[in-house]
Amino acid sequence: MLQDVIDHLACPVCRFGLALAERTVRCPNGHSFDVARQGYVSLLSGPGAAGTADTPEMVAARERFLAAGHYAPLADRVARLAAELTGDARGLVVDAGAGTGYLLARVLDAAGPAATGLALDISKHAIKRAARAHPRIGAVVADVWRPLPVRDGRAALVTNAFAPRNGPEFARVLAPGGALVVVTPGPGHLGGLVEALGLLSVDQEKDRRLAASLSRHFTRISETAEEITLTLDHAAVEAVVRMGPSAHHIDPATLRRRIADLPEPYVAPGSFRITVWRPAR
Ligand SMILES: [Zn+2]
Repeated sequence: MLQDVIDHLACPVCRFGLALAERTVRCPNGHSFDVARQGYVSLLSGPGAAGTADTPEMVAARERFLAAGHYAPLADRVARLAAELTGDARGLVVDAGAGTGYLLARVLDAAGPAATGLALDISKHAIKRAARAHPRIGAVVADVWRPLPVRDGRAALVTNAFAPRNGPEFARVLAPGGALVVVTPGPGHLGGLVEALGLLSVDQEKDRRLAASLSRHFTRISETAEEITLTLDHAAVEAVVRMGPSAHHIDPATLRRRIADLPEPYVAPGSFRITVWRPAR
């Protein structure tokens, strides 16, 4: 519910606090934002980078794929880690680039009833679903590349999975003692599918760039690899492609033709890196 997180939100125009009245979110300076029928609010300021937002088709693919449980072992691992990190603090968990809210819902279940979640994503199609992914999620359309619509020092935990990272902003919104958990694809993610379908390959330089982009504001505490086996029918192969960055690069007809040539089910490795960071203060 938006009400659960409203005290932590900041006006995207003037950075003052926000209050919820009826179907409107307002700051003391009169900037106001309508709450959508589905219970989320858009706090985009200025022109949004809608070109990079997930489309309805990408969001639907992601929802189908996640609902089938393919990434459940990864989500459970992250949720357990999140519960350990927040301990008794039980505060606000901000998921920056939350998508449909799948991971955040798991994290809130593991963290216990006193934890609340704020889902941030630039795609309103994704945020619509995040708003109903868990009773303790407040869902906000926001651009993770820009200043986050969150007040200083409010989050016990920031999570960031397969999403853009904004180091200075993640550090700013974390409370003292808070932590950042980042999930990225590992080097062998999806194995032979990458070549067979002409997908964007996982950038070998990515780990180095991740460390470089965060190390000005954070210290890396731990890094773990999570390797799972994905058993995918053709529909699931199409979903895993269409929910990721390659969706913008392959035309649907070509993709379907290539998928039709694959064995079914197709067994592929799911490879992930989970890193934990503390603000360097
Ligand atoms: Zn304002």
